[in-house]
This record gives sequence, C-alpha cells and structure tokens, in this order.
Amino acid sequence: MRCRSAGAVQRLAGWFAAMIGDLPSVIWQRNDDGEFIVAGKPLSEIVAAVGSTPCYLYDRGRIQQRISALRAQLPEAVQLHYAVKANPMPALVCRMAALVDGLDVASAGELRIALDSGMDPARISFAGPGKSDAELAQAHAAGILVNVESFREINVLVRASERTGTAARVAVRVNLPFELRASGMKMSGGARPFGIDAERVPEMLGRIRDSGLAFEGFHLFAGSQNLHAEAIIEAQTRSYELALGLIEHCPQPPRLLNLGGGFGIPYTLRDTALDVHAVCDNLATLAARARRDMPGARLAIELGRYLVGEAGIYVARVIERKISHEQVFLIVDGGMHHHLAASGNLGQVMRRNYPVAVNRLGADKEIASISGPLCTPLDLLADRAELDVAEAGDLVVVFQSGAYGRSASPRGFLSHPDVIEALV
Ligand SMILES: *Cc1c(COP(=O)(O)O)cnc(C)c1O
Repeated sequence: MRCRSAGAVQRLAGWFAAMIGDLPSVIWQRNDDGEFIVAGKPLSEIVAAVGSTPCYLYDRGRIQQRISALRAQLPEAVQLHYAVKANPMPALVCRMAALVDGLDVASAGELRIALDSGMDPARISFAGPGKSDAELAQAHAAGILVNVESFREINVLVRASERTGTAARVAVRVNLPFELRASGMKMSGGARPFGIDAERVPEMLGRIRDSGLAFEGFHLFAGSQNLHAEAIIEAQTRSYELALGLIEHCPQPPRLLNLGGGFGIPYTLRDTALDVHAVCDNLATLAARARRDMPGARLAIELGRYLVGEAGIYVARVIERKISHEQVFLIVDGGMHHHLAASGNLGQVMRRNYPVAVNRLGADKEIASISGPLCTPLDLLADRAELDVAEAGDLVVVFQSGAYGRSASPRGFLSHPDVIEALV
C-alpha cells in the first residue's frame, strides 16, 4: 500500500485535532514555528538543555495535573498507589512519592528506588510471581508489605520473621476466578502464574494465622490497559465481593483491600479515553459498603500508565530522509531498542502507530514512515503516518510515552547508545 485510504487519513487528522486541539488529557500545543511546547518551552530548547537525542521527557506539571484531576473524583476513602514498573525513573518516582499514598514495586531494584524516594516503607508494597529469597528478606527488613503469591513465599517470610523476631507484613494476592473483560493485558482468570488460586486462599490464610505473620489484607489485580469503565467496575465489584467472602477465614480483620487498577490510556485512533468518573462513582459505592462490611479496612487502587503515560514523550532526530519505491522513510537516531512498545513489539496483537508528529509545521503534509537505526524491519516507530514534511535534523515526537518506555525496551539490542531521560 502506498497511500492510506481517504477515510484513514481523515481519522488520522481527527486524532491530531484531538491531540493538539480539544481532548484535555492529551493537548500538546505548538508555538508559531510549529514547535511543541513542553514544560512551557519550545521542544528544541528542552532538547538542547538535555544535551542530545534520543530522549524521553516527562512533564512533571502534566503528572501533577493528572493526579489532581483524578483525586478530585476519587473518594477520599480510597488510596491512590503508583505502580513503579510503569516508569521507574528515580527522579520521577521521587515526584510521585509526594503525590500518591503508596508505591507498589515488583522487584528489589524497584524497592530500592521506592525507598530512596522518601515514601514511608509502611506504604510500599511488593507484588510479583517470582520473588527470590533475597528479595523477600530485603522486603521484610525494609518493613514493607509483601503481596504473597505462594506457600513458598510464606515459608521464606516465616523463617525471616523467626530470625529477627519481627513478623513480616503480608497481604494475599488472589488469582481472581474471573477475567478483566476487554483488557489489553489480562492477569487473572484461569491458570495464571500470578497470585494464588481463590480456592486455596482459605488454606493460605490458615497458614498465615498459624505462623504468626502480620496479615493485612488482599491484593486483587485483574489486568491492565483497560478503556472500558463497565469492565473495570465489574472487576472491582467482583473483587470486593470475593474479599468479603474470605473475611471469615482471615486471621485478623483486613486493613487493606487493594482493588487493582487497569485504567488505560488511548494509544491509537480507535481508542477512546476511559470514563474515570464512572469508575470513581463505583469506588464510592464500594467504599460505603466497606465501611459497613469491614470497618478498619482501607481501599486502594494501584495505577501505573494512567498516572504517567500521557505526560511523557520520546524524541528522536531525523538522520536521513530516504525514499524507497516512492515511500518516504524518516530514519531517526532512536527506535525499538528504546521504545519497544511504539514499535508494536511489546505484546500488541496488531501493530498500530502511536501518535507521532514532526516538531515543525511543514509547508505540506505527506505519508511517511519513521524507522530507527537497527538492522531489523521491526525497528519501526511509525508505519505510513501522516506527518509534516521533515528533513534531516528535524525532531520527531512519539506521544503517550511516559509509561513502559525505556525500562520496557531491549536497550542492549544492536549495542546502540542508551536513551537519556529527563523530568522537566
Ligand atoms: C503492571 C501492574 C500494574 C500497573 O499497570 P498499569 O497498566 O500501568 O496501570 C499494577 N499492578 C500490578 C500488580 C501490575 O502487575
């Protein structure tokens, strides 16, 4: 295909209008020269200050706005946690620590970043299907909450508790007996490596009771990247009810019910933003029920990409403009080794372009592909997108890149330089 159909180009144009026009969560304005304004400055100035391309830029003002807007709708009784794996850049995590009620980590490496951020260890929790003995010992020593996912983890924590005389803090991560419908990434329902099957939870609670670990509650995470409020509402309500059914087996009344998250962000033309208002309304209902059903338990949600994804951009510079069989390729100095997700290779079933743009208004628009320096056809940041006509030296921007970017990319692949990150 040499050219998109008229309908596709129109949809693309619609997305750009939304991007830089009227969709409040993803407005990136341009100045008169067509440069994007990032943290109040033209993008080229920020890039000059950062020093070189390629780079990720995370806009702290946007992160703050996103969190305030969510807090305005989220019932006060519901705590907001940040899932560090979405973006573990230390400076960003420090910023998040001041804005959220807790941090959720998924490795000892993330735990160190979380502890450095100044977040109270009492408000850090650790989930993940393969916590090593060393990671569990470190978590226990730091006094954080471990979302236990197997009997082996319980045994390791019991030994650590006996050694030190301090009971490890645990919550039980349940493999929910249902799926998060219409989700980009399902993490429950049926056979899963995550959590412990719901049928075995009473037995696990018995073991926790007998061993004297400090039981704090449940971790119920159904999946990720969901744009359908009804699906999230259904999963959160069913999670709540599941926990309620387990209360009689608990060693102590639960103090925490982590209902997961899964709030998605739009990445492509076909996506519409999540109706968070509806999800927050349902959380208010659940919080009211919890006050009656389990006094003393706080509800929490843990979000990653929803908090930081839209605040980040990936910027690369055009090295060369190449024409092959009448198709334009903008070959840039960054690619899939820094931004696997934008190349379509991080779990996408169908490759779709992230929103991309040239940091300049060209006299004309054209259909062009943005391709990286790696010797593989997988290294494609945009496949035949409508873009302002660009030349070597121009900057191109990949939006919606604040989550699952640098840390989720194969940076050693082809031994190119690493990517710079800056919080601006
Ligand atoms: C990945 C993950 C998250 C964050 O998912 P997002 O889609 O970034 O919100 C939260 N909790 C757990 C347990 C996860 O594995």
